[in-house]
Amino acid sequence: VRELPSSFRSYTWAPSDREIAALGGIDPSEVLRFDANVPAYPPLAVRPSAVAGAVATVNTYPHGGYQELVTAIARYAGVDPKNVVLGAGSDDLILLVARSFGGPGGRIDIANDPTYPMFDIARALAGAERVTGPPELTFFCRPNNPTGEESPLPAARPLVVDEAYFEYSKDTVADRLDDDIIVLRTFSKAFGLAGARVGYALAAPDVAAELNRRQSPAPVSTLSAALALAALETPPDVTPELEERARLEEGLQVLGFSPLPSVTNFVYVPVTDPPALRDSLYSRGLAVRAVPGGVRISVRDELDDDVLLAALAAITSGAAPAPARNRARRVRRARATAETRIAVTLQLDGGGSVHIATGSGLYDHFLEQLGFHAGFDATVSGSGDRETGSHHTVEDTAITFGETLDRALGDRSGIARYGDAVVAMDDALATAAVDLGGRAWAEIDIHPDPGLAVHSLTSLAQAARMTLHVTASGSDAHHVAEASFKAVGRALKKAISRSGASIPSTKGIL
Ligand code: PMP
Repeated sequence: VRELPSSFRSYTWAPSDREIAALGGIDPSEVLRFDANVPAYPPLAVRPSAVAGAVATVNTYPHGGYQELVTAIARYAGVDPKNVVLGAGSDDLILLVARSFGGPGGRIDIANDPTYPMFDIARALAGAERVTGPPELTFFCRPNNPTGEESPLPAARPLVVDEAYFEYSKDTVADRLDDDIIVLRTFSKAFGLAGARVGYALAAPDVAAELNRRQSPAPVSTLSAALALAALETPPDVTPELEERARLEEGLQVLGFSPLPSVTNFVYVPVTDPPALRDSLYSRGLAVRAVPGGVRISVRDELDDDVLLAALAAITSGAAPAPARNRARRVRRARATAETRIAVTLQLDGGGSVHIATGSGLYDHFLEQLGFHAGFDATVSGSGDRETGSHHTVEDTAITFGETLDRALGDRSGIARYGDAVVAMDDALATAAVDLGGRAWAEIDIHPDPGLAVHSLTSLAQAARMTLHVTASGSDAHHVAEASFKAVGRALKKAISRSGASIPSTKGIL
C-alpha cells in the first residue's frame, strides 16, 4: 500500500452497545445513544414492505443506475437530476470529492475547527496537503458538527458545503451550485436511515457528471435505494425534535451547563474534562460524544433525554451515582415483521403519560387506556400494512407491547404478581384478573367485540407471559372493549407493584 503520513488517524467508532452495557451492568438493549446525531426511531413511512421488491430481485444489479431515486432526490432538493451524485452515505461523497479534486501533493482546506473528522481523513487518504496556498478544494460544514452552529460561507472556491443537518436548519446553498459550490446531504440524519448508508451530492451539471464518472457503478444497495425512495414519499417533520432540543437545552442550563445555540438535532456543551464526563455517562449506560472542549449530545425524545438529565444531575451534584440498573423497569423494544414495524418504550413506574400512534386509531385508543390505568409511561410508534386492514398492526402492536412488558419485569422478583379490577363504563362491565407468574394463558370473553379486542388482549398476554382472564359485556362494543382494556390496566398496576425483594412464588422461581 501507499504509505500514509504518520499523523494519519483513521475514523474511530465509539464503543458498541454491548461494550457500554458491560460497563453499566445492563442489557445492551437498555443502552441509550446520544452520540450519533440520529433520530430515536426510524421514519414511520419505512417498513419492511418497502424493501420487499428489492429483496425479490436482489440477485441482480441495478442496471442503468438509480434513475427513480435520483429523480426523487432532485425533486426534493429543487434541482435537476443532472445535478445529483449518489453515494453510500455522505462519507462516501466526502471521499469522492477529496480524491477527485485533490490528489497526492494537492491542497485541501477545511474551513471549520473543530469539525467532522472525515474531511481531514478524506484529505489524507487522497494524499493532499492541508494547505498553505490557494486550495484546490475547501470543506465547510454548515451547520457545523460538533458545534451545531451555522456560520457565514467562506469565500474559497471550489467549496464543498456539508449540509448533513439541513433538514433541521432549513438553510441551504443548493441554489448556488453554479457558484462552484458542491452540497453534500444525507438520509442518515433527519430521514432516520443511517444504517442504510445513502447520501447525495448536488453540483453543477459538469461537476456532477465528472464526479459520477469517478463514482463506483452502484454505490448504494438496491435495498437502501428502496428505503430512501420510501422515505422521500413523506419527508421528515422535525418539529418535535426541535421542540425537544429546546427542552433539553433548558434542562442542561438548569444543571449549570451552557450549551451553545444550535440549529441542529444535537447540542455542544462545553465542559472542562470531556472524556471524564463521557466515561461517567458510559458507566450509566448512556453514550455521548466527547469532542474538543466539550461533549456533543444528540436529542432523542422526552423519556430518554430525562434519563440523561437525571444522570447529569447526579454527576454534577456529586450524588451517589444512580446505577444503570435503576432503569431496569424501563425498556424499549422494536419489532419488524414482513407486515409491520413497531417500536415501544415502556417505563413501568411512570405517571400515565402514554402516546400510541400506529395508525389503528381505535386500538391505539384502547391500548392508551390500558397504559394510563396501569400507571405506565409508554410510547408506541409504528406502521403496518393497513391496506390489508388493521389486523396485522393491532396484533403486532400487542405482541411488541407484551414483549416489552415481559422484559421490563426482568426476573419478576419483588412484585405483587397478582392483580384484579372491575371497571364499569355506562352499559359495559368488565372484570380482569392477572397473574404475572410467567405462564402465558388467556381466557378472554368480550361481548360484543368491536373486532380485535379479544385477539389483541390474547396476543398481549402471550407475549408478556401472563395469565389473563377478562369477562366483559354490555350493549356498545366500543364501551365493552374500552372497559376491558382499562380493567386489564388497573389489574396490571396492582400486579406490577413492588412488594419485597423476593420471587413471589412458593417455588422460589417464576
Ligand atoms: N457529515 C457530517 C457533518 C456528519 O455529521 C456526518 C455523520 N455524523 C456525516 C457527514 C456522515 O453521514 P453519512 O451517514 O451520510 O455518511
